[in-house]
Amino acid sequence: MMEEEYDRERLRNTVQACMANEDMKWYRFLLRNAICACPLRDEEEQAVLSGSMQTAEELARQFDGFTEPQLLLRKLGINMVYRSEELREPYLYMAIYEPAIQMVYLNNSILSLLREFISKNNLGIFTPIKDIERLALFHEAFHVLEENTPGIYTRSRMLQRKFLGVYHYERGLDSASEIGAIHFSKIMTQSTYSPCIYSRYVLLALGLIPLDSFLPNV
Ligand SMILES: [Zn+2]
Repeated sequence: MMEEEYDRERLRNTVQACMANEDMKWYRFLLRNAICACPLRDEEEQAVLSGSMQTAEELARQFDGFTEPQLLLRKLGINMVYRSEELREPYLYMAIYEPAIQMVYLNNSILSLLREFISKNNLGIFTPIKDIERLALFHEAFHVLEENTPGIYTRSRMLQRKFLGVYHYERGLDSASEIGAIHFSKIMTQSTYSPCIYSRYVLLALGLIPLDSFLPNV
């Protein structure tokens, strides 16, 4: 792991501030920072945010008997396997779903990085280590459910655009799917904080963002 350039006391204060950050703020940040995102009008942004969150809420109601993500994934016919990856893009994910082979891979390298980061900075009271894998697996379970649900909002072409000012076309947004998955994992694990914080941990631990930009400013 890299030599950290942040002050631990400041880190704890920042993480504590993140605990109070509303879901909407995290999701808006995700939308605005997505690669290839087309700029959204305010009302479009609001519609994508609430549409994605509602989709997650409906699926969470439908599967609320599943307290453990492994049980849900097994019921959906998905196998789970650990693997290791390099600690760089595009491998900075906790888990990933491969629809073609009905498999969810858990990324041991990132999971251990997170566990180490949390314990050495005493952040377990905010973000318990036991939550990490459950959040990652419920997140992927949402993507499996999306795959199994034709026409689901988070995979739809929800934006109306014009080409050459005349031709209409519709496009979707990958971040709608991500917001849905994150929100679903939060509800299913009954977490009080946003799972988005783990991606900030990864980026900070790898020195890819400074502590000053840890809390999204949207
Ligand atoms: Zn995802």
